[in-house]
Amino acid sequence: MRRESCLASLVLLSAFSAGCVRPSHGAGDAAQSARKANANTGGRAGANVNAAATPPRGFADADYARHVAQLRKKLPSGEFEIVIEKPFVVVGDGGRRAVEGHASGVVRWAVELLKRDFFEKDPADILDVWLFKDSASYRTHARRLFGREPSTPYGYYSPAHKALVMNIETGGGTLVHEIVHPFVEANFPDCPPWLNEGLGSLYEQSGERDGHIVGYTNWRLPGLQRAVRRRQLKPFRELLALDGRAFYDDAAGTNYAQARYLCYYLQERGLLTRFYKEFHGNSAADPAGFETLKRVLAEPDMDAFQRKWEKFVLELSE
Ligand SMILES: [Zn+2]
Repeated sequence: MRRESCLASLVLLSAFSAGCVRPSHGAGDAAQSARKANANTGGRAGANVNAAATPPRGFADADYARHVAQLRKKLPSGEFEIVIEKPFVVVGDGGRRAVEGHASGVVRWAVELLKRDFFEKDPADILDVWLFKDSASYRTHARRLFGREPSTPYGYYSPAHKALVMNIETGGGTLVHEIVHPFVEANFPDCPPWLNEGLGSLYEQSGERDGHIVGYTNWRLPGLQRAVRRRQLKPFRELLALDGRAFYDDAAGTNYAQARYLCYYLQERGLLTRFYKEFHGNSAADPAGFETLKRVLAEPDMDAFQRKWEKFVLELSE
């Protein structure tokens, strides 16, 4: 699925952990891949509860039952259905089958694969995944439930409301993107915005390769290629060091795209999970990840690397 680049206005965040409120596209085919993956593995479509082998940290069935009982009191109408998909609770107004399909397809698939490669801990709270069936439902209910109009038409993660809030009509890709953020928050609280958003946006268009999640080229590529040709990109040393406010102050989405395709490059070289783990272990000494990046890439001259990476980007196609 292709879309025009989104140039929605940005909300400046004082810290990335305040949430991902940014232009985002549900351009992924993750849902389709997940359905395929589910079919291939005899997926448990229709199951209400994910009885996964690894129990989520700290929450028992009784905790989920209490959470669901509280959530029921907040439901805006009888149209909403609730499905427990640990470590999340999925709630939506698109009909029971659709909500179950997204829960057992996209959410379960993304959680399993992201945990396989990156994350050990579940989020510290039971988070709700609100799947609104269309733009009108998304806007109306986000305002009513969370007190403000969404700044993106696709979806966002609100740590304050312990909720992922989606217009699911735009596709499952945004949902995978947003699922990355609470896992980063739980596992790598000092993660800089470039990697948090690089990983999130990498997987907004994703599938599965040899049992691992893999990001594909997507709608962010043409804008990035234009920025490369116009020599508008920041040196990686600068991009990696941006704090939340500076990273998100990016109306054209160039920071997102540059971070995404750095992650994509690492992925295609088989280095992304290694980079994540080494950076996670070394972030006190190297808070931006630049030194770890140099080491993992085995690129002592990062100016030369940037030229190599730019050539790689220009040769990619959507
Ligand atoms: Zn994000």
